Amino acid sequence: METHRLALIVEAMWLIMKDKYGLEDDELMARMAELDLSDGAADGKKEKAGPRRCHKCNRPNARASVFCLYCGELIRTKPFD
Ligand SMILES: [Zn+2]
Repeated sequence: METHRLALIVEAMWLIMKDKYGLEDDELMARMAELDLSDGAADGKKEKAGPRRCHKCNRPNARASVFCLYCGELIRTKPFD
């Protein structure tokens, strides 16, 4: 999906959430900062670049992989991982 289209979708969803649930921009900004820092670096990204390590065999896999290429273990266990 094109990045600018994704940005439109995210903004539209946020506006709907603000209207329906009364959320504020400050809450969104605070949550974004929290997610940004979840990898230990305030760099505008949720996680560091590089391979995703399998928690079972510890081998590196492509970041987009769902299952470990080497042992078949499920390595993406959360929807936004
Ligand atoms: Zn593995």
